[in-house]
Amino acid sequence: MLKRLLFMCIGLTCLGGAWAAPLEVVATSPSMGALVRAVAGDRAKLGILAGPDRDLHQLQVKPSMIRALRSADLVVAIGAELEIGWLPPAIASAANPAIQPGRAGYFEAAAQVPLLDAGGPADRALGDVHPVGNPHVDMDPVRMTTIARALAERMAQLDPGGAAAYRQGAETFASAVEQRLPGWRARLANAPGVLLYHRDAIYLLERFGVPLLGTIEAVPGVPPSGRYLSELTARLEGQRGVIIYAPYQAPKAAQKLARDLGWQAARLSLEPPLKADGNGYLAHLDVWVEAIASGP
Ligand SMILES: [Zn+2]
Repeated sequence: MLKRLLFMCIGLTCLGGAWAAPLEVVATSPSMGALVRAVAGDRAKLGILAGPDRDLHQLQVKPSMIRALRSADLVVAIGAELEIGWLPPAIASAANPAIQPGRAGYFEAAAQVPLLDAGGPADRALGDVHPVGNPHVDMDPVRMTTIARALAERMAQLDPGGAAAYRQGAETFASAVEQRLPGWRARLANAPGVLLYHRDAIYLLERFGVPLLGTIEAVPGVPPSGRYLSELTARLEGQRGVIIYAPYQAPKAAQKLARDLGWQAARLSLEPPLKADGNGYLAHLDVWVEAIASGP
C-alpha cells in the first residue's frame, strides 16, 4: 500500500496537489462514459474516445485515442464487434498490457447481457455490420443496470479500496432506472411503432413492446436501393408510425419516407451528451421515449 501511495504521489498526487482518482478509465462512447460516472463517480478519471454524433461502426484511429489508452487502467467498450474497425488497432498501438482483451482492464458491455439478432443469417461478407448479434445494448435501460453491476465488480477487482463505492454507484443507478420504468411504460403503451434507419434502437423498442416497422437500410450497414425504398413505402402506406434516424445517417431517404407516408421524422443521437452521468443517460432516453410516443 505504501508503495502504491508513493507511486501515486510521484505520478500525480503531489505534483498536481490534487487527489488522484484511483482508476484511469477510457470509455469508447458517451453512453459508456455515463455508466462509468454513475458507477465510479470521482474515483475514475474518465476519457471518452467518440463524441455523441460519431458513428461507432466506423471511426478512424486517432493519435489522441492511442495516447488516452496508453495510460488507462480500464477500457469500457460497448463490444459485440461494434468498435472492431478501430478499437483493436488503437489498443494494439497503445501497447498497454493492462487493457488487452481478456485482461481485467478490458470490459465489454455487450458481453454481460443476452444479445438480440444473435445466431441469425448475418454475414459480414454481405456487408452486415452485426455478425455476432446486435451490439446496441446501451439503448436498453434494464440491460444497462446489469452492465452497471458487472462494471462495478470489475472496478472493485482493479481497485479493491473502492469496491463499496462502485457497488453503491451501480445500485443507485439501478434504482433510478427502476423508478423511471413505469412512466416510460405508460408513455409508450400505445406508441404506433418506429421505422429506424438502422437496427440501433431495437433494444429500447423491444423493452417497451413498441413495434419495429422496418429499417431504411435493407441490411445493417448497407444503404438502401431505390427499389427497396419503394417497396418499404408501399408496405407501410396507410399505417401509423414515426421515423427516427441518427445524425450520422443519411437524412434524405428518411425525409422522403416521412413526406410520402405523412409521418414525423426525428433526428436523434443514439448517445447521451459527452458530459452525461447516470441521470444524463436517463434524460437521453426520455427524449427517445417522447419521440417514439409522439407519432401521429
Ligand atoms: Zn449497428
